[in-house]
Formats: sequence, structure tokens, C-alpha cells
Amino acid sequence: MPMTKENQNEISKPKKHWTMALVESMKDAELIYKDTERIVIIRDKYPKAKIHLLVLPKDNINSIYKLTSKDVALLEEFGEIFKLIQKEHKNHLLNAGFHAVPSMQRLHMHIISKDMVSPCLKTKVHWNSFTTALFKPYNDVLAELKQYGAIKEIAHDIYKTLKTTPLKCNQCSYIPKNIPQLKEHLLSHL
Ligand code: AMP
Ligand code: ZN
Repeated sequence: MPMTKENQNEISKPKKHWTMALVESMKDAELIYKDTERIVIIRDKYPKAKIHLLVLPKDNINSIYKLTSKDVALLEEFGEIFKLIQKEHKNHLLNAGFHAVPSMQRLHMHIISKDMVSPCLKTKVHWNSFTTALFKPYNDVLAELKQYGAIKEIAHDIYKTLKTTPLKCNQCSYIPKNIPQLKEHLLSHL
């Protein structure tokens, strides 16, 4: 492409890979919910529940698998933020945790309300990524980091099994036949 005044920005700024989108969103004033010296909290762009926020470090830590003992204080700050956000949303029960197999770069903790009512929740993988062991609760990750100084990766066959776990309501024993039936049922818990 020849360089012209109109396209020089496009040429000089190559498009970032989609897995880097959270790092871009950390600078997006419309998505930023709060920030501190070390952390940015953004609204998830495709929320899977009524409340869905992401907590990210400003430091370039790629995922939970890059955490070391030196990061315990940072992770404890994630916990303080979770407590604060739970206080701000007294009418919603919130969960905090990390995906065992994240798709996006930069460490991010999900803070997500238990309702799981959202038009963006569309697939079994979406559901299972928050309601099975694919979702590693914040307290477990903190305890593992304190004990071992690192987080152990999940085995690939376990990941595959968890992704295809049969659907089950996260708030009662209801077993839906499919996602539309599950979504309809979730409304009864509101
Ligand atoms: P994970 O599977 O843990 O990597 O989750 C990534 C999360 O980022 C998902 O909940 C997505 O809905 C969310 N997401 C994807 N793209 C963006 C974006 N550009 N800005 C904010 N959140 C995003
Ligand atoms: Zn139910």
C-alpha cells in the first residue's frame, strides 16, 4: 500500500493480534471501571452475567502461570478489590476467579455475578468456563501461589473433558437439554 496522509496511521500502527485486545481495553476510558497504582478494572466487553468485570495488573504479567511468590502482594490486592466490588453490588452474589485456559493475554481475574444472565452467554463452552473447574476461584489461586510459588497448568485431557461437561444449572439441580433452555431457566432464579 503506498503511504498517503490518510493511511499513514494504519501503516505505522500495525493491527494488534486479537489476543492483545484486553491490553488495549485497559486504556479505553469507556471500559475502565476503576484503577489503582498497580491495577486496572475494566468492564468485560462481552459480559456473561449482569455484572462482569476484569481485574488486570498494569505490569506485563501474561497469565496466572507466570505468577511467582513475588506476586503474592499483587494477588492480595486483587482480593481487596473483589471485596470492595462485592460491597458496591450488595444485591448480587459475585464470584472471583481465573480461567484455567485463558484465551486473552495479560493476567485477568473475572468478577462475575452468579445470575449468568446475559445475551453474550451463547455456548456450552461459555457456560462451562465459569461453572466447572475451568474456573479457578480466586482463593484457590492465592493459596496455591502462597504454598508452591507457582500455579500448575491443567492437563489437556482434563480441559477437553471439562469443556464438554453436560449442562447443569449453577444454582439448583436442574439439568437443561440445551443452552436456550438453560437461559430460560436462569431467569427463574432472578
Ligand atoms: P478469558 O477466557 O479468561 O481469556 O476471558 C477473556 C474475557 O475477555 C472474556 O470474558 C471476553 O468477553 C472478554 N473480552 C474479549 N475482548 C474484550 C475486549 N476487547 N475488551 C474487554 N473485554 C474483552
Ligand atoms: Zn436452577
